[in-house]
Amino acid sequence: MSGTDRTKTPVTPDGPIVILVEPQLGENIGMAARAMGNFGLTRLRLVKPRDGWPSMSAQRAAAGADHILTAVELFDSVEAAVADCSLLFATSARAHDQAKPVVGPEAAARETIGETAKGGTVGILFGRERWGLQNEEVALAGRIVTFPVNPAFASLNLAQAVLLMGYEWFKHATGGALPHAMPERSERASSYQMQTFFDNLVAELDKVEFLRPPEKRDVMLVNLRNIFSRMEPTKQDMHTLHGVVMAIAEGRKGPANGGVLDGEGATRLRALLAEHSDGRAQSDSGGSVRGLARLLRRNPTDAERLLWQALKTDRRFAAQFKRQTPVGRHIPDFVSFVRRIAVEIVHEGENESVARDRIARKAWLEARGYRVCFLHAGDIEQDLAPQLDRIAAPGSD
Ligand code: SAH
Repeated sequence: MSGTDRTKTPVTPDGPIVILVEPQLGENIGMAARAMGNFGLTRLRLVKPRDGWPSMSAQRAAAGADHILTAVELFDSVEAAVADCSLLFATSARAHDQAKPVVGPEAAARETIGETAKGGTVGILFGRERWGLQNEEVALAGRIVTFPVNPAFASLNLAQAVLLMGYEWFKHATGGALPHAMPERSERASSYQMQTFFDNLVAELDKVEFLRPPEKRDVMLVNLRNIFSRMEPTKQDMHTLHGVVMAIAEGRKGPANGGVLDGEGATRLRALLAEHSDGRAQSDSGGSVRGLARLLRRNPTDAERLLWQALKTDRRFAAQFKRQTPVGRHIPDFVSFVRRIAVEIVHEGENESVARDRIARKAWLEARGYRVCFLHAGDIEQDLAPQLDRIAAPGSD
């Protein structure tokens, strides 16, 4: 069962004996046994269980607390069941108007532990589901235990009443020790390590002029430092934070850059791929074309971004354009498959191979019935409207 470790030795200081008087439902006996097992109680006595004993339903409900069920002791009378008890509690939700102390479960648990420590035997009586304990039965006990409950709805289920008593007893018997706790954290960061991290952080923040205006700098530093000192970070936390700050500060680099490159890099990479795939079989480069398209989509130039925004919103194009999407092994900047238009942006100062690549792409696309529109990045950034007209109006290219 989850949460149960049968290799662990059960805690068995002498607990109280649980005595169920004429219990009616096997399920409740089983659940009471289970609750006892949860809280290290082992001794269960039954006085005339209504449906007889042993009980299949009790066994099912006990959920593995078999050691308690097999050790059950049966009695014909309450008197016989409590005969060996030196201290007896009667649990009841009702006031019985008898001249004897009424205690809560916690006080009862404490007294139980004191009594067993002296070598005494403690019993706890529980009544029938339907009508609890009779006055004569309560009269056998030295104390009445009643729970702090909602007086308007005071009666607990029998097994839950057993659980509550078991819980209080176990909690006091074990000093409230919990079976597991948060794992030990790694060693606390030293002041020196914190200082180094912080100096570093401040140096990086100064580079981006974050700590401004100058008159607020000191307050900001105090607040910032407090964030980290409040954390009580470990050495490992400091390593991690340091790594994070440096990764952000130094920018993306190396193979971990997540496939991000700037516009210039994107242009070069496209040219490179175009050159390389020239002589190759188309199927060979299909995968890299798709990968490159993804890369390019993630890295729009300013002109591309502007034009894309316009193509998406201009009614004439009705969201027909796609950005950096492969057509065969080529990737025009924009393409409408519906209108068979491709749009290419010409960037200032691009190198020859990029230009050559674009011309080849144009020829390839035109051979397949596409109208190819070259727009200059500078024109797009300066005045977008005439460029959009050019895309819309056939015959201008
Ligand atoms: N209808 C019964 C309650 C039966 S509940 C009555 O009116 O007494 C079954 C048993 O659980 C009770 O006899 C008692 O032993 C225990 N129990 C239930 N609620 C309790 C409470 N609030 N305080 C103490 N014991 C309680």
